Amino acid sequence: MQGVGFRPFVYRLAVRLGLDGWVCNGPGGVLIEAQGETPALTAFVQALELEAPPLALITALESVEIPAAAGSGFSIRTSDSGAGHTPVSPDCDVCPDCLRELFTPGDRRYRYPFINCTNCGPRYSIITATPYDRPWTTMAAFPMCRECATEYHDPADRRFHAQPIACAVCGPQLRLVAADGSYLPTDPLQGAIEALRAGMIVAVKGIGGYHLAVDPFNSKAVGKLRRRKRRDEKPFALLTESLQSAAALAQISAVEERFLTGVERPILLLRKREGTMIAPEVAPANDYFGLMLPSAPLHYLLLRGNFPALVMTSANISDEPLVYRDDEALQRLSDIADLFLGHNRPIHAPCDDSVIRVFRTHPLLLRRSRGYVPRAIRIPEIGRAALGAGGELKAAICLAQGGQAVLSRHLGDLKNPATLAAYSDSITSLQTISGITPAVFAHDLHPDYHSTAIAAANQELPQVAVQHHHAHLAACMAENRLEGEVIGIIFDGAGYGADGTIWGGEFLVGGYSGYRRAAHLRQMLLPGGDAAAGEPYRMAVSVLHQLQGDKLFATPLSCLRDVTPQQQRIFLQMLAKRINSPLTSSCGRLFDAVAALLGVRNRMNYEGQAAIELEGLAERGTFGRLYPFGVSREPEALLLDWLPLISALLDDVLAGLPAADSAAAFHHSLAAAAAAVCREISRESGIRRVVLSGGVFQNRLLSEALVSLLENDGFMVFTHRLVPPNDGGLALGQAMIAGRS
Ligand code: ZN
Ligand code: ZN
Ligand code: FE
Repeated sequence: MQGVGFRPFVYRLAVRLGLDGWVCNGPGGVLIEAQGETPALTAFVQALELEAPPLALITALESVEIPAAAGSGFSIRTSDSGAGHTPVSPDCDVCPDCLRELFTPGDRRYRYPFINCTNCGPRYSIITATPYDRPWTTMAAFPMCRECATEYHDPADRRFHAQPIACAVCGPQLRLVAADGSYLPTDPLQGAIEALRAGMIVAVKGIGGYHLAVDPFNSKAVGKLRRRKRRDEKPFALLTESLQSAAALAQISAVEERFLTGVERPILLLRKREGTMIAPEVAPANDYFGLMLPSAPLHYLLLRGNFPALVMTSANISDEPLVYRDDEALQRLSDIADLFLGHNRPIHAPCDDSVIRVFRTHPLLLRRSRGYVPRAIRIPEIGRAALGAGGELKAAICLAQGGQAVLSRHLGDLKNPATLAAYSDSITSLQTISGITPAVFAHDLHPDYHSTAIAAANQELPQVAVQHHHAHLAACMAENRLEGEVIGIIFDGAGYGADGTIWGGEFLVGGYSGYRRAAHLRQMLLPGGDAAAGEPYRMAVSVLHQLQGDKLFATPLSCLRDVTPQQQRIFLQMLAKRINSPLTSSCGRLFDAVAALLGVRNRMNYEGQAAIELEGLAERGTFGRLYPFGVSREPEALLLDWLPLISALLDDVLAGLPAADSAAAFHHSLAAAAAAVCREISRESGIRRVVLSGGVFQNRLLSEALVSLLENDGFMVFTHRLVPPNDGGLALGQAMIAGRS
């Protein structure tokens, strides 16, 4: 396996156990030569399987004994893979050796912010062309000094062929710049630390782009950042130095520890601890903190300026792309940041922070970017190389060939012109990085997606239009390397349906070559069209209209309180005559409706906010009873009817029962309903394998409830581990379907 952080993992394990030897990529897999005492070797072999990096998949482990030789430490050997494409590695965090040197007085790289070695440091973000070699990185502008060159050419050295090798004599340097572009004469690091201490906002250049840093214990400073960034409530990520300092802020399970400390260094969503002094403005109305450990030496140096944690949020204004070039940082961030802590090592390929949660023992990726990109994903063999265009809101593209797929970084919302430009560039750059030339271009069925338009404008490649939820199904099948037919429970926000309505609560039966819509959620109207997706109270109105007709506004609910009589009339007209109110079977909108009914939220400040807060509420509740639901047969498909569920939930709300308990009951009831529909489909089709996909499965409570029910029924259940269940994973499914077509 390549590019899954396996060799650095082996290296660290061997060093920890005091073994001599080496690890390298061979033609048939990874080759390790290890030498040491028997107990250490036994522990080594055991740990290889037990502690392997999250995404590494060991299919077979064989070992033979060889005669001992003189030991000289452990090393990663550069692969002589010969012909063929050598995959580009993701960016990697600071390894324990470099971290030790960074804080060892007298070391050549003592407090040098760009320390790295063969086992760590930037990769993907600094590579300008392949093969991966110093002239083709943004380090090309820094000729090595004598000492660095010696290390670089010495096979016994930890920095043998470490392309970004540098030191204070020859390498990049920090600089501190004021918002007007003038350089400050102070020590850049010390100046930045003092500014942060004084409550200022500092733009900090990281591995994949700029962050905005602020002291999270300073309420006023965090509030200032919110106003300037025009971001009302979406939580800010926190950077903290170690597992210990993270544990002081949040509850961390043993499994979560593994992912928090992993080389990918994602933002991990962790349940807040009570009584921390973190300002409430960091993550308002949210039970979780997004925590990450340092991904760059500079982060350690900043934190050791006596900060238990720092806000580190990606540097952009609301939904614009991440800022990563120094000139654009000054241009675009001068109204937000007071100071800029930058340096002269350019970032070539920007990359957002990745965001994950842990579901059972696996990562649940919400955003797959830095640390994961451009790591290849093993998929079932496809006949022709394919390009998947992805979706619209969480755009990412995918190139697949043979048994491998490579996804681009998270690109974001294509309605933003700057994002759209980056999207077009990524099609070319991902081909260079992956070495894959597509023979077919797959895109969503939605006629208005920008990604669809770009695919349509391509004259060279044949095109395949893929239904949105079919792509979700195929993505989950592909990463689990499934063949044949499965039942796909696809609970999603919105996707263009084969019948022209908006789908999003689908039970599909099929595989890569096709699907049928076996069942779906009861449909509802979206009063106001797109506006309904951001305003959950509209969904409550829509759902209540199905229950109570024109009398709905007489219901004493907090979500209806602010609807004026005039708005009431407009709503009733819209719903009766179906004006600007498209039909949808979306599961995401059902969550919005329930969130509004339970008084969680009427309007959203960021995508998914109502559902996130509803899940948080449900986690605080006790699950007492199941609400009823209906399963009926329509001419074309089964119908999962949630109306009885909403009716019972409404009774509880009006009876004044705790909203948290109702929220919990809603999650469990929806899971029970989905499991019942699944049993029915299985009875007819004989299929026993189920895949779960779609943005709603970012919800851990629903996922847990549904997976448990299905497993108790004897189903084999497959969820996402390598790509997000949301539209960030869509391109993989598209490429898979097109590659098999
Ligand atoms: Zn290192
Ligand atoms: Zn040097
Ligand atoms: Fe989707």
